[in-house]
Amino acid sequence: MFCPKCGQEVSGDADKCYSCGEPLNNPQAPRQPDAGAPAEPVQNNLVWAILTTIFCCLPFGIVAIVYAAQVDGKTASGDHAGALEASKKAKTWSFVAFLCGLIPMVLYAILMIIGLVAGAIAEQPPAPPAPFNNF
Ligand SMILES: [Zn+2]
Repeated sequence: MFCPKCGQEVSGDADKCYSCGEPLNNPQAPRQPDAGAPAEPVQNNLVWAILTTIFCCLPFGIVAIVYAAQVDGKTASGDHAGALEASKKAKTWSFVAFLCGLIPMVLYAILMIIGLVAGAIAEQPPAPPAPFNNF
């Protein structure tokens, strides 16, 4: 047989090419992943979906988790386009959930600042008692 990388002739029972070191198609040698697998892995965005569900907005976050969970299943069944679509939807819903959590948080922060400022104005230290001017 011949080495697929450098074309050097090697004996059939060799587990790697003695010319370039390329592992050969041998049961003992570690196998490369199938060439039929999709080239780039699809991001499932599950982490973002879970984080936004916990910290931001539960209903939209759950929608994001549902789509994120579909990504790996569709990738495994070879539906690369479907996996990409589910990944995109998971990202979109995570973002929606994030905004839904962010807007009340920003409003709350603004109200807190207004409250602190108003409280600071209202709670001026009382004027010190007038010293002995009643003689
Ligand atoms: Zn070789």
